[in-house]
Amino acid sequence: MASGFLLSRRATLGSMVLGMPAGFAATALASDAAPIVQPAAATPRSFMDRAFAMRQRAVDAGDQPYGAVVVRDGRIVGEAPSRVVTGSDPTAHAEIEAIRDAARRLGTSALDGCVMYSSSRPCPMCQAAAFWARLSRYYHGAAIEDGGLPRLPGG
Ligand SMILES: [Zn+2]
Repeated sequence: MASGFLLSRRATLGSMVLGMPAGFAATALASDAAPIVQPAAATPRSFMDRAFAMRQRAVDAGDQPYGAVVVRDGRIVGEAPSRVVTGSDPTAHAEIEAIRDAARRLGTSALDGCVMYSSSRPCPMCQAAAFWARLSRYYHGAAIEDGGLPRLPGG
């Protein structure tokens, strides 16, 4: 009886997923994202300025003071403020949100060749996220400190 219920429930869930229009998830994610306005100059300073603009956006929204952008080939491909407070998500650090934004916009989970600029030194969780995202380099702080190749904490 119980397993029959589970089976039919699973079948219902399965048909709901199958019933979704093709490309629904990707379209919804892409349309949620506003186009990124590129800075006038493609320089480390302008990318870090944008990270700090994201930091200010977080502060204005009442969130924690962090911002980050992801850059590929001289263009910002992902950007985000911290959404820990506003999104009720303890993992929504700016760096992770920027990685998610870039991955969705680019349609890939492998961000090889991408560079992160973040307003602060990354925490261990964001370092690990940058590692798994395969970012090529990590810069942080107002002085644009070169954090090097993202590594797993302790690695
Ligand atoms: Zn973090």
